[in-house]
Parts: sequence; C-alpha cells; structure tokens
Amino acid sequence: MSDLNLDWANLKFGYMKTDYNVRCYYRNGAWGEIEMCSEETINLHMAATCLHYGQEAFEGLKAYRCKDGKIRIFRMEANAERMQSTCRGILMPELPTEKFCEMVKRVVKANERFLPPYESGASLYIRPLLIGTGAQVGVHPANEYLFIIFVTPVGPYFKGGFAANPYVVIREYDRSAPLGTGIYKVGGNYAASLLANKKAHDLGYSCEFYLDAKEKKYIDEAGAANFFGIKNNTYITPKSSSILPSITNRSLMQLAEDLGLKVERRQIPIEELETMEEAGACGTAAVISPIERIDDLEMNKSYVIAKDGKPGPISKKLYEKLRGIQYGEEPDVHNWVTVMD
Ligand SMILES: *Cc1c(COP(=O)(O)O)cnc(C)c1O
Repeated sequence: MSDLNLDWANLKFGYMKTDYNVRCYYRNGAWGEIEMCSEETINLHMAATCLHYGQEAFEGLKAYRCKDGKIRIFRMEANAERMQSTCRGILMPELPTEKFCEMVKRVVKANERFLPPYESGASLYIRPLLIGTGAQVGVHPANEYLFIIFVTPVGPYFKGGFAANPYVVIREYDRSAPLGTGIYKVGGNYAASLLANKKAHDLGYSCEFYLDAKEKKYIDEAGAANFFGIKNNTYITPKSSSILPSITNRSLMQLAEDLGLKVERRQIPIEELETMEEAGACGTAAVISPIERIDDLEMNKSYVIAKDGKPGPISKKLYEKLRGIQYGEEPDVHNWVTVMD
C-alpha cells in the first residue's frame, strides 16, 4: 500500500516524478542489460536521430490496484508486439516481448507506492519509449538506441470521466496519410495533430475528429483515439490504413462479440453517423469516452448521437465489462491480464 499522501481522486492526466525508471541500451547490434534508474533526465547526443528525424516510438498501458489488493497490468504483450510493429515501420531494432514485459513488471514493482488506491478513479500509467540515440546528419536510421519505461499516476483523461463529449470534424489538417505512419505509434503523428487539436479546443470542443485523408469521406480517428459506433446490435469500427490499431478497440471488439453483438470493421461514411445509436472514442487513457455529438461545420451538419448527453446502454455495458476484467472482478477468459506477485 502507499505511504504517499496524494490527492488521488483529483489527479490530472499529467507527469509526476516517481522513484525509478527502467532503461536498456542497444549498442553494437544487441540489447544490453536492464538498468534501474532514479534520474529523470537522459544524456543525449545533439545529432541523435530521434531529435532530427523523428526516430521515436512509444507505447501506453496501465496498471491497476485492485479490490483484492493485487496489481494487475492490462495486455502488456500486445503493447510489446505493437511496439515491434512500429520498429519495423521506422527501422528501429525490435525489443523482444519477454524483455519488454520484464521491464514493465520491474518498473511497476519499483514504484509500487505510486499505484493509486482502488476506487480512487486513478491508475498507474506506464509509458515505454524507444529513441534513436546514435548521431546522424544524413537521413539514415541510428546505430544506437535507448529504450526507457517510466510510470506516473494519472487521473481520468477527460475531466468529466465517463460522460459524453462533443467532437468537431477537422477537414483542413490530416493526422496521417493512407500510406504514411498512422498505423505506428510514433511522435510524428502527434506533432501533426497539434494544430487540429488546438483548433478544436479554440472552438469549444473536447476533441478533433478526423476523416480519411484521401477522400475526406470516411471516419478515421476521434483525436488520438479509435472510433466505434453502435447500431442494430452491431459494433462498427473503421477499417483504414491510417489509424493506429488500438488495443482497447481490439478488446472491445472481442467483448462485443462475447456479448452477442455483431462486429464490423469497415469503412464508415461520415453520414452514417445519422443512424448510429451510440458512439465512442476508445483508448488506454480514457477506455471509452462516449461521443455526445460530432459537428461537421464546413458541411453545416451536426450529428447528435447521445441526445440526453449520457453514454448509451451498450457502451456502458462494454465499459463495465472491460473495467471488470482490468480490476480482476470479471473472469479473464481471454488471458489479457498480468497479476503481479
Ligand atoms: C495509442 C493510440 C490509440 C489507443 O490505443 P490503445 O492501445 O487502445 O491505448 C488510438 N489512436 C492513436 C493515434 C494512438 O496513438
């Protein structure tokens, strides 16, 4: 249990210093030993490829303090595999799944006192980061890399928690291109999203909403989260070559199927929002953030989904099922959870 006197219930989604991070260097074609570190800073060559050419991959997952007192980590192998896919996408060396998982477990254990208590609404966010550290001036992959995992306790991503939010379609900026890096978890996609996100906030919305970059016809992502819609007892989520394959979305698709819903992964024309009974954004940070409405200002359209401003019954059921598994209160039939000893 924690000896910290933190206001757990009012934590923001932000960075807080913890006791340790864990590091591993890639040099001379091989990964080194795992090192525990209490420094927050890194010593970096000014010509490192991560600084100039965006050779950077990251991940995001969470650990939860549960009712039974145990700590549970959600789908860390899936995060390890997605980071390997990102590495193949931007020519970085892949970290083996076993090493990734061992480092996750070590950093969580070492910072156990930062795990927010059960029912505080907060959790421990785990941030793995892989950067090219070798010096290059020409555009080439680095020959040296640093993999770090730090953790930080976080509150809910959206201040309102599980409440419905308004989104706005941004047509003047693209987050990622159909054959670009949208399918990889790289910082560059986020740099590309900052202006659109600012514009949405300036207009008074919670978040920006992206259409496919090529035709501006189909739903892509809800900010930095995947989109799903529900109608006719069907869970529908976009099939697109420019969205990040969300592990939360993949889990919800499975749970939807378990609950007897049909699951469709296909192109979703924006106009189809008119017929959606429920819609949400999903990702590790917010799990499910129900969508109240999506305004397409240029087209003079407002798609109101949650007419009472509340999350719909199926979104609520999916959310509760997923939270139940994460907290060890529902059977983990798909083997998604690592229980720490
Ligand atoms: C990380 C991320 C998500 C959510 O993925 P999860 O694995 O569910 O956390 C969705 N979209 C983008 C662009 C992301 O970077």
